[in-house]
Amino acid sequence: MPTSRVRHRGKKTMVTNLPQHPSSGNESDGYWMHYHDQDSEKLAEAVVEYALERIRLDPPPLDGPKTLSQLQALVGNTITPEGLGGLKALEIFTKHLSHACISVDHPSFLSFVPGAPTESAVLFDLVLSASNIYAGSWLESSGAVYAENQALQWVASLANFPASSAGVFVSGGTAGNLSALIAARWRWRQNGKGAYDRVRPVIVTSSGAHSSVGLAANAMDADIVKVKADAKGRMSGVNLRQAIAELDPQDRNRICAIVATSGTTNLGVIDDLVAAGEQARELGTWFHVDGAYGAAALCAPSVKHLFVGIELADSFIVDPHKWLFGPFDCCALIYRDPDTARRAHTQRAEYLEVLQQQELGDALANPSDMAHHLSRRARGLPFWFSVATHGTEAYEEAMEITLQVTREATQLIKNAPFLELLLEPELSIIIFKRNGWTPEQYQAWSDKMLNEGRAFVVPTTLNGETILRFCIINPRTTIEEVAEIINSLE
Ligand SMILES: *Cc1c(COP(=O)(O)O)cnc(C)c1O
Repeated sequence: MPTSRVRHRGKKTMVTNLPQHPSSGNESDGYWMHYHDQDSEKLAEAVVEYALERIRLDPPPLDGPKTLSQLQALVGNTITPEGLGGLKALEIFTKHLSHACISVDHPSFLSFVPGAPTESAVLFDLVLSASNIYAGSWLESSGAVYAENQALQWVASLANFPASSAGVFVSGGTAGNLSALIAARWRWRQNGKGAYDRVRPVIVTSSGAHSSVGLAANAMDADIVKVKADAKGRMSGVNLRQAIAELDPQDRNRICAIVATSGTTNLGVIDDLVAAGEQARELGTWFHVDGAYGAAALCAPSVKHLFVGIELADSFIVDPHKWLFGPFDCCALIYRDPDTARRAHTQRAEYLEVLQQQELGDALANPSDMAHHLSRRARGLPFWFSVATHGTEAYEEAMEITLQVTREATQLIKNAPFLELLLEPELSIIIFKRNGWTPEQYQAWSDKMLNEGRAFVVPTTLNGETILRFCIINPRTTIEEVAEIINSLE
């Protein structure tokens, strides 16, 4: 091994003095790929330049899916024994792969739940990636965990959770719901003092709940009781009480959690959180609120009152990658009693014992111990950086912008004779139908809008009928853009 390489290692090297990566001979990439040389300097410039270009795009192209055979023809095989070189691999991404990914931050992406990360959040995501922080333990990443915890405290305070509450950022709402429900089951079994150790738990939720609640029940081998949503799509107190009353006492004892949704994904409506919280309290069971999409609007003064009752919850989630302007993948999971979460989730192993023995001020607070995971990226940091940069008032304002566009768009739909509004929106999801259209006509319109790069709006269904749905979470979505989509439906 030439000494020049050894000297380079661990030393701050002037960019101009970087070693030259030999293009041939026995000095292979296997050694050089971990060191910074002239090639990696060039690649760094190209990567950062592309990243900046992407951030500057205003708006980004909507783009769209390609078929497997199209991608095979355009890109072919990229995994080779010798490697393509960074510039070539980057070119393949920028020219072909990136354009086969729909831009969730395009202002006319109104399907599913879009994403709209702030520039500061995206920029800091680059910093985070460059740092590769292991954010599972306080020992290894106290600085990152400290900042993540402040962001979590802000989220917790929006729901009027006590200062003693705590949480962790997990990959998404699906992981957040599962982790909260595992903690709920742990407490139910603990309270049962052995009586429920071999008993299947029951999770009570609504027919409007997100599919991930059912998935969690499946993973936990729990039975699920689905309360029928009312005419407006909500889990009402009456229906919830009735569903629980109809269970026989044995089954009622198996309830380990009631899960309410604050902002259902299809309709955007909020369950009766007060009734759900009171029911849970009466039963002595866990109350979880799935606010993956909707709880972001807790920071909007004009709708905050709709969330009354969330403060009764034992846990709740909200996805910053949805309506809190963070990049994927990020869900804030908050527990009223973090100790229960820790006891449910902490992994024990010889090599991990040291992490439990650290006496670090008030903190034995390892993010790993709060959810169903171990290694984790400090995925809350881009969100933290954005909130720290802009302040919470900017979040209130941005949230209100999206709600205002939703209200104006709702009015346009009401005024359009060819459309019918199906529900008065509570948050920022609007559901409506185009009079006289078949499911095929909806799909054809949706495909055409995407193919022309104009908008991404996919049909959904309500009680089996094909309808349209807008989800507006991007403060850059203007009423003019929504009006253009509405007019294209005539
Ligand atoms: C999106 C969503 C989820 C799932 O979140 P992911 O981040 O996609 O895993 C769960 N619940 C609700 C209400 C959602 O809107």
